[in-house]
Amino acid sequence: TDRVVHAAARRDALLASGTDSARLVFSEADGVPGVTADRYGDTIVVQLTTAGADAWREVVADALFSLPGVRCVYERSDADVREREGLEPRVGLLRGTEPDPDLVAHEGSWRYVVDVAGGHKTGFYLDQRDARAAIARLAPGRRVLNVFSYTGAFSVVAAGVGAASVLSIDSSAPALDVARRNGEVNELDVGELMEADAFTALRGLRDRARQYDLIALDPPKLANNERQLEKASRAYKDLNLLAVKLLAPGGMLLTWSCSGAMSAELFQKVVAGAALDANRTVRIVGRLGQPSDHPVPLAFPEAEYLKGLILEAE
Ligand code: SAH
Repeated sequence: TDRVVHAAARRDALLASGTDSARLVFSEADGVPGVTADRYGDTIVVQLTTAGADAWREVVADALFSLPGVRCVYERSDADVREREGLEPRVGLLRGTEPDPDLVAHEGSWRYVVDVAGGHKTGFYLDQRDARAAIARLAPGRRVLNVFSYTGAFSVVAAGVGAASVLSIDSSAPALDVARRNGEVNELDVGELMEADAFTALRGLRDRARQYDLIALDPPKLANNERQLEKASRAYKDLNLLAVKLLAPGGMLLTWSCSGAMSAELFQKVVAGAALDANRTVRIVGRLGQPSDHPVPLAFPEAEYLKGLILEAE
């Protein structure tokens, strides 16, 4: 109880700074391995990924439900890793009342629909908060391509700050449906939504000689472990090569790897190889990583998984 309550308290300042949504508990990084909890307004979504954590379900649920202003604690323990611990998936209400089907996360003036029961992870990518802020600075007037858009959070921001155009690509139809709803709740035109495999779609855009001034490339975890690194590196290279080719002169690429097994150093090398093969001069002008509610203990560097580069092509 103490560990959960103290972890939540460490997010108080963040939750008083213009957002009502944050990761309250981040597993090992908060001293509770296997327990992840995300807050969206009055709703908390908890994920238990290990047998050790699973045994503490009721204590964790009570601790989260005791936090001020919480109406609902919902469990989304359906991550694949539970299988390796011999655990069945568990999804459903733990405390309070069922989550609001129209639940939105508020971040500054933006609203994001959170599909608590059916979305990825706990429904929304809180870990890309700093990227959303970067896109707000970079997107005005630019032709924006959002690859692996999920529910279009980057697209909402880009459209909202006055991008010249926005194209979102994702293979998930339900995610794109939420992107459409995100346009509605923010009262803006979120741009074109394309349901497609990103590898194929990027080749199609390249073949049609399309050009973009700002590309976001945020693929899912492509390497689950070190054995998959070689294959994943080839996929990251392929994606980044295609993206660099689509950059207009002076265009910017925001590119990520969220594979914990891939080091920042290896990721940068892979992206460098892509720029070289594209025959473009590309510079790192910034980096994007995990925001403060996804901390990395000095004693547990493995908590770092999200590595992003802000690149500018000549
Ligand atoms: N940038 C997003 C998160 C991206 S998560 C955000 O900030 O909200 C990765 C996304 O990639 C998921 O939505 C998933 O549906 C999508 N995806 C996975 N494989 C894909 C593929 N081959 N082609 C297109 N999209 C894919």
